[in-house]
Amino acid sequence: MNFDHVSPHREAGDGLSTSFIKAEAVRLGFDACGVARVLKVDDSTREAFNRWIGEGRHAGMDYMTRYSDARYHPDSVLPGCRTIVSLALNYYPAHPLSDDQYQFAYYAYGRDYHDVMKARIRELARAIGLTAEYKESDERPSNSILFRVAVDSAPLLERYWAMQAGIGWIGRNHNLIVPHRGSFIVLGELLLTAEVDFYDQPIPNHCGTCHRCIEACPTCALTDSGVDASRCLSYLTIEHRGPFSAEQAELVRQQPTPYYIYGCDRCQRACPHNQFATPNTTEEFQPSKAFLDMSKDDWRRLTREDYQQLFRGSPVKRAKFEGLVRNIDTLQD
Ligand code: SF4
Ligand code: SF4
Repeated sequence: MNFDHVSPHREAGDGLSTSFIKAEAVRLGFDACGVARVLKVDDSTREAFNRWIGEGRHAGMDYMTRYSDARYHPDSVLPGCRTIVSLALNYYPAHPLSDDQYQFAYYAYGRDYHDVMKARIRELARAIGLTAEYKESDERPSNSILFRVAVDSAPLLERYWAMQAGIGWIGRNHNLIVPHRGSFIVLGELLLTAEVDFYDQPIPNHCGTCHRCIEACPTCALTDSGVDASRCLSYLTIEHRGPFSAEQAELVRQQPTPYYIYGCDRCQRACPHNQFATPNTTEEFQPSKAFLDMSKDDWRRLTREDYQQLFRGSPVKRAKFEGLVRNIDTLQD
C-alpha cells in the first residue's frame, strides 16, 4: 500500500477525518489515496496546458479545447467544492500478452476502468457516511455535504489534483508515478463540499536526469515539453477516426516489434519506477482466456461478432471495430 509517504504532511483544520477516509480506501482495495485542498490551479500548469492546446498538440481531440477555464475550477464540476480525494487503482497485469502476439495497452486488458472506479469510489463515499451525491438537476438542502465522483469524465485536471494530494508526481512520460507502485494505475476523484481535518502536500518529482521514456518513444511524440498527440500511437490507434493518412500509417508502422494494435505502453514500460509494479488483483481487470489466447492470425481474421464478444464492457470499444481492424491492416501493408 502506498499511504505511508503522505501521512506526515498535515495541516490543522476540522471536518471529515482524513485518516478514516484513507483507512476505508485501503479496506476497499485502492492502491493510493491522498487528499487535496481545493485552491486555484497554479499558473505554470495553466500556461503549460494552454500552450499545448495553442500549439495544436491535442491533434483531433477537440473535446480537450472545450470547458476553457472550467477545467481550472473544480467548482464547475461540484459547486462549492473544497476538497478532492484522489484515488488510484493498480491495473498492472498478472499475465501480459507475449511478445509474439499483438499488444494492447495494459489498461485495456479487462473491463472498462471508468465503471470499476466509479462504483468503488461511490462505495467509499457511502463508507464515510456521505449520502448526497450532486446532480446538476437536483435541489439539495444547503447543510448537506455534497459529493461527486469523477473518472476521466469531468473537466478536471486529474493528474494535477493527484499530485496536489501527494500520491505521486507527474513524470516526463506525463503519467502520474506513485512511489513504490509505478504508473500503471487509474485515477479517480471524490469531490466534497466539506473540509477534512488535514490535507496532504505534493511530493518531490523523482525523475531526476532520467530520460528513458523519451528515448523509448518510437515516434518521437514525447518531448520534455509534452506529448505531441498527432505522433503518439495511443492517440492514433484509439482516438483517431477514419483512415490513416500516409504519414500516420508510417508512424504506426515505425514502431518496433512487438506491435501495438491498441494504445501503447512503451514510455511506461521503460520507466524504472515501474519495476515496483505488482500484478493487480481486481477481478474486473482480469483478461479473458479468449483474449489472452488470440494469435496474430486470429486478429487478422477478426469478425465484427468476435469483436463484440471479446470486448463487451471493455475500453477497447472506444476504437470501434473499424478502428481496430484499420490498425491491424496497417501493420500488414
Ligand atoms: S504512448 Fe507510445 S507513442 Fe505515445 S508517447 Fe508514449 S511511447 Fe510514444
Ligand atoms: S522513464 Fe525516467 S524520466 Fe520518464 S517518467 Fe520514468 S523516471 Fe521519469
